[in-house]
Formats: sequence, C-alpha cells, structure tokens
Amino acid sequence: MSKPIAIAIDGPAASGKSTLAQALAEQLGYLYFDTGAMYRAVTLVALNRGVNLEDEDTLEKLAREIDIDLKPASKKDGRLSDVFIDGVDSTFAIRSKEVDNNVSAVSALPRVRKALTEKQRAVGERGAVVMAGRDIGTVVLPDAKLKIYLDATPEERARRRHAELLERGITPSYEQILNGLRERDKIDSGRAVAPLRPAEDAVCLKSDGLSREQVLEKAVELARERQDSNGDGNAPKPYHVPFGVRLFRSTFAPLFRLAFRILCRVKIDGRENIPKVGPYIVAYNHISLFEPPLLLAFWPMFAEAVAGADVFDRPGQKILVRGYGAIPVHRGEYDRRVIQDMLKVLAANRPLMIAPEGGRGHKPGLRQGFAGVAYLMDRARVPVVPVGIAGTSDDLLKRALRGQRPEVHIRIGRPFNLPPIEGSGEQRRAARQANADLVMRHIAAQLPEEYRGPYKPI
Ligand code: C5P
Repeated sequence: MSKPIAIAIDGPAASGKSTLAQALAEQLGYLYFDTGAMYRAVTLVALNRGVNLEDEDTLEKLAREIDIDLKPASKKDGRLSDVFIDGVDSTFAIRSKEVDNNVSAVSALPRVRKALTEKQRAVGERGAVVMAGRDIGTVVLPDAKLKIYLDATPEERARRRHAELLERGITPSYEQILNGLRERDKIDSGRAVAPLRPAEDAVCLKSDGLSREQVLEKAVELARERQDSNGDGNAPKPYHVPFGVRLFRSTFAPLFRLAFRILCRVKIDGRENIPKVGPYIVAYNHISLFEPPLLLAFWPMFAEAVAGADVFDRPGQKILVRGYGAIPVHRGEYDRRVIQDMLKVLAANRPLMIAPEGGRGHKPGLRQGFAGVAYLMDRARVPVVPVGIAGTSDDLLKRALRGQRPEVHIRIGRPFNLPPIEGSGEQRRAARQANADLVMRHIAAQLPEEYRGPYKPI
C-alpha cells in the first residue's frame, strides 16, 4: 500500500504555497514545515538585537544557536502554524513589515543558508512532511518524491496579499505590495546560492484563476499517486460508482432531505468542518436505522457507506441500500475484500462513512469502538471527521407520523488524524484499540452527555 513521502513545495512570495502546504499536510496527516519562518526568525532576532545585517559571522551564529520550533497551529487566528523562537510565540512578530523588507538580504547569505538547510534536511529526511520554501526541491530535499512549484503572476499575488492584509485590519497600498513582492522575487531569484527556481522534476502549477480548493485537489491527487508508487505496487484500483447508483443518488437525495425535514426538525452544526476535498472518513454514532440515510442525505457530497450484509436482504431496506450502493460487511468478521473496497473508495478521493461501534445500539449511549476500524484507518491514513447524532431512535418514523416532529441534531467536529500504529503483536493490538477509543472520544465530544456511554469527550 501507500507509504508516507516527503513533499517539497516551492514558489515565489505570496504564491499560496504556505496555504497549500498546510492544507495538504492536514489532508495527508503529515507535518507542515514552513522554512521561510526560519529565515524570518533569524532576521527578527538580528533586528531586535541590532545586529548588522551584513555581518555574516554573527548571523550564521544566530542561525545555529537560536531555537526555532514549528508546531501545528494552536489558535484559529489566521496562523498556519505556531512559530516559537527560544520558547517565545513569535508567529506574528516574524511577519512584520520590517522583517519582510530585510529577510531576503539575510537569506542570501550562504552560511546562514547552510546552517538552516541542515536543520531542514534533518526534518525532511524523516518523511511524512510537506516542506514549503524557495529551494526545497532543488537543494534541501532533492530526493523528495513529489515536488510542486506553485506560481502566479505578480499582480495576482499582490492582489491576494492585499486582500489578506485588509482582512487582518492592515491597509497598505496595492502598489506598495506589488513593488515589495517584485523586489523580493528579484533578490530570491538572483542570489548566487540556492536561487528560487523550479527543480527539473517539479510539477509546475500556475494558480491564477484557480481557487484554493482546486489547487489543493490537484496536489492531493499528485501526492496519492506518488505515495502509491512509493509503496509495494499493490495500490488499489480506483473505486467505480455505477451509473445506476449515481442516478439513484442524485434523484433521491433531495427527496430524502425533504422527507426528513417534513418529519423531523433537522439541526446541523459544524458544516464548516467538512473538508472541501476527499479523501476522509466520517465516523458517527449508530443508534437506529436512521443515522446512515440522514448523514448520506445531508452530506454536501456523495459519500460511500458500509452496511451490514443482512441489510441487503431485508424487505424495504434492501431497495434503499442497493439503490444507493453500499459496501456489504459481515459483522464481526475480518474480510480482506471489504477493507480493499474501503481503501479503493478513499484512493478515489471520496468520503467514506463508518460507524465504529459496528452496528446499531437501539438506544442512546456509545458502545466500544471496534479495533478493526482503527486498523482500516491506519492503512488509509486520511483525516477522520467525527459526527455525533442525537434524537434518532428505532421508532423515529412512528413518532414523526404521530406528528411529534422530533428534533434530530447532527454535530460535525473538526477533522483529526490518528497516531500511527507501531510495534508488533500485543503492542499493535493495544494501539489499535487505543485509536478506536480515541475516535469514540471525538464522537462523544459531539454528543450530549447522556449519549456518551463510557467515553469522555476529547
Ligand atoms: O516564504 P516566506 O515569504 O515567508 O519567506 C521569507 C523569505 O525567506 C523569502 O523571501 C526568502 O528570501 C527566504 N527563504 C529562502 N529559502 C527558503 C524559504 C524562504 O530563501 N527555503
């Protein structure tokens, strides 16, 4: 199957490479590493300490000695990651105008570059990383399995940077930004050491006129291809959805939504947490017959689901499950083919819905998650979107037809990635169960207290 790889993303200032790199890393469960932040950190410390920016000896020393730590974003305030310099949060300090104006001069110094390149390479060699910068594909990680060079015209880049700054309440002139970007491009491309240019084997993407999602979608596709060819050559073939099934879905999904809305008060929170592009796994709590059709009907894109094999023969239900199309699973059994089918769905960049409890509980209250689900999730290595559904019951239809119009509340949580399962034998089994429990705790966080069963929310 697929193996984690190192991904290099290079491009000029404001080309969108940091946004792309961060989103791609989140999608793949990789580390996002912004090398520009390191050059900025050295520049900031030098400015604060009044170091002459031509004094290469002192700047090299700074580059080697200061502790620059890049961590996943801890706040939702527009940052893509947290940047700590000697333990102090400097995420926004390194983006000041003064740093902007001086960083290219500092980064042109060969010994500063050497010191930082060594640190970057050490991170990159561990794999499972998306590294963004100017010379990642050419110098830092020349063996990266995927190299993307992201570009856009200076005018487009200036327009985006202008809009971004306005959003943060800063109001510079467009011309000022355009001139600043041109100046930085000139220094970055013209310097003697590691100038900005695409690696020979880089995929060049021009982002003018493309949305963030379109660029991300292309990058995810490229990454999946390279991950697969980095593996043992047994990548599953893409999942094929038959025409009849597609027709059924587009005809009946709106009718289902309408019917649910007439019969129940459907409330949905957290739609903004749904990833714009697949692949990902939706993990939900399963009480009655109604959670799967509810989720499938209201999810903004068609998703694939798993259904107990017995459902395919039950009168009434069989029409729906066969029409919508689902992957049949024999409960409690390990079935290699089912796992392959689920992996195929994800390889085709589609969402996959799973109830980690294995089957219906008939009453509120989470039950233990199956370790087998964590096994699949570990093989797939895609984000998991936790969903909690409250208010459904086996007699939902009866209650609705009696005119009670019950409230059904769907809460969608933020996607998360599971830690890899390591070790062997008993250790692996324990790690799988721990991951299955972690998934359940994320679901518990989306549910009212009386629905959580043994699980404390994450
Ligand atoms: O990507 P960002 O604009 O934050 O980078 C700031 C500066 O750091 C760039 O203008 C460039 O001069 C320098 N840089 C570099 N090599 C990298 C990353 C950034 O020279 N790999």
